[in-house]
Amino acid sequence: MFNANLRDEIRTTSRHLAKLNELGVYDIKDFLCYFPRTYNDSRNYTKIAEIRTDKINVVKGKLSNLFNMRTKYGKKITRGIFTDSTGSIEVVWFNQPHLTRMLPRNAEIVLMGKAKFSFGKISLQSPAYELLNLSEQIHSGRIVPIYHETEGINSKWIREKLKIVIDKWADELQEYLPEQIIKENNLIPYKTAIKEVHFPSSPERLKKAKYRLAFDELFFLQLKVLQKKWHWQNIPKENAKIIETNSEILKKCINSLPFKLTGAQKKVIKEALIDLKKPYPMSRLIQGDVGSGKTIVAALIALNIVSQGYQAAIMAPTEILATQHYRSFVKTLGNYGLNIQFIAGSTKQGLKDEIIKQMKTGTVDIVIGTHALIQDKIGFKNLGLAIIDEQHRFGVKQRDILKSYGSPHLLTMTATPIPRTLAITLYGDQELSIIDELPKGRQSIITKLVREKDRITAYRWVEDQIKKGRQAFVVCPLIEESENLDLKSVLSEYAYLQEHIFPKLKLGLLHGKLKQEEKDEIMESFKKNEINILVSTSVIEVGIDVPNATIMLIEGAERFGLSQLHQFRGRVGRGVHQSYCFLFAKNLSEEGAKRLKSMEKYSSGFKLSEIDLELRGPGEIYGLKQSGIPDLKMASLSDSKTIEISRIAAKKIIKKDVKLDNYPKLKKILKNNTETYIND
Ligand code: ADP
Ligand code: MG
Repeated sequence: MFNANLRDEIRTTSRHLAKLNELGVYDIKDFLCYFPRTYNDSRNYTKIAEIRTDKINVVKGKLSNLFNMRTKYGKKITRGIFTDSTGSIEVVWFNQPHLTRMLPRNAEIVLMGKAKFSFGKISLQSPAYELLNLSEQIHSGRIVPIYHETEGINSKWIREKLKIVIDKWADELQEYLPEQIIKENNLIPYKTAIKEVHFPSSPERLKKAKYRLAFDELFFLQLKVLQKKWHWQNIPKENAKIIETNSEILKKCINSLPFKLTGAQKKVIKEALIDLKKPYPMSRLIQGDVGSGKTIVAALIALNIVSQGYQAAIMAPTEILATQHYRSFVKTLGNYGLNIQFIAGSTKQGLKDEIIKQMKTGTVDIVIGTHALIQDKIGFKNLGLAIIDEQHRFGVKQRDILKSYGSPHLLTMTATPIPRTLAITLYGDQELSIIDELPKGRQSIITKLVREKDRITAYRWVEDQIKKGRQAFVVCPLIEESENLDLKSVLSEYAYLQEHIFPKLKLGLLHGKLKQEEKDEIMESFKKNEINILVSTSVIEVGIDVPNATIMLIEGAERFGLSQLHQFRGRVGRGVHQSYCFLFAKNLSEEGAKRLKSMEKYSSGFKLSEIDLELRGPGEIYGLKQSGIPDLKMASLSDSKTIEISRIAAKKIIKKDVKLDNYPKLKKILKNNTETYIND
């Protein structure tokens, strides 16, 4: 079933078929799942006496006096009189003389269009029409579906063709959700949902149809992550590494720190230590705002593991970040006789080979690095723990490679606070830990949306701060179209600031096109305060720790999501001095200004990412784009209620039958990983 030829079914030309293909519709199933973009409620006709010029009028009545004529400039126009029980109105069409043949006189029809005033009277101009004597009304007098269109096919055409397909095929659609799930969640049957979503019989039924389809999408996402979680927790027993807590060494290390752990850090460490004692590998995601102190948490877990003869690996997305980790690991764990190594793209081949050899023989206890850690020749003798920092910067495959070195315990970390519902959908195979507390004494960063007229004042103020010994970052706008444009913008900003605004200061320039050594060199001199202001693109913001930098100036702030702005802001406020974040934005709408104002108001990354999610969708949450947000047609990842409900439903199934052997239809859909859930 459903493999009938789409073109034959809808009797169309190959040109139109190609257009449908452009919209992602190749067969009958695709077409049935080509959901409307929105709807036009035209259930209530406008009375002719009440026609207005400021909206689309849908009128029902009879057409008379239809004739073609030419204006004095030679334009063809068609005129007629349209009448209902409340009055008459003139109708005008341009360049469609065939209408005099197509439109019946004195029979009921529906017209839809704008009304205009000209020469003192009102007329309907170029309205669309629907004849009523044929079959069911699909273009008017109902809730009318509006589709994404493409050149050459419009919603009217799609509606007509879909009607044919639905009438013939929708009843063939099979239910695939288990009876129990349908009942418990009060869902309407699948085929009803498909019919109703295209041609709703009422707003209530439409709502139910959308809910059913959204539920399905989220339900399958949840099934997938829960299955994955189960598999990770059910690795062969001989691979399990049950690791007890080495309280003695942990206490010693904690006591040697120059600060006290926060309550949140302690809580998360405890959660991880409990995981390690279980007979299956840990898989835990630690979310914590920038500066919340994730590194020390990672170091302590690593210490617990390596003190019992296992190895640990820490992977970070950039060399700058990996280097920073390496230094803080050496600083924190330097006194325990551990062999800690660093490996990255810039590591010389000879040295690299030597380290890899040591990793394989087990002489390296902790290795810290970049992607270099998951390259071909790498191996471990006894990897007990894999830590991935800024995990969303890595693909699933890269994470899986690290996991494949003997199923180690896995700890992933992110400074992107992700709203819970989103996290359980995208990372639902992991346990979640949240560091929701910043170390004591952390100052809050004063954030200001700066108006253009205050720009120079802001610059002078920055200069003043720098004279007092502080440092600043300038982040240039994100230009999505191309990396080259990004580069151009950062180069010209740098030149402009150096020449015209801060001629007496030393400015540095950092962007993605620089060689690794060049980047490192610039970062080093910034850290040493040999550079006063670091001008950079948005690509290299992760994890840089320069306590003396107290000013973050962001150009084109309107182009960034709030959670990314929050990431930038986290680069300052790391030392003892009061820090500031200035947002510059161009052509702000009222809404845009309100959005940016929330940066002034909130210091919590969670709060900001929730606002992002609500206002601009998950794609705006910093870093999520790369990690592959599922392409959902009906569901929304900000619909926390449906996410929770679908997760509960999926959990029930997985608990009963993780392999889905008793649910062959679900199994097949998951296996095919199809976007549409229709099974033949
Ligand atoms: P992030 O969570 O952004 O990775 P880091 O681990 O880099 O944060 O920590 C930021 C800074 O805070 C580091 O300099 C670290 O030494 C310090 N730090 C971590 N925990 C605490 C704490 N409990 N009290 C004070 N400072 C801390
Ligand atoms: Mg960090």
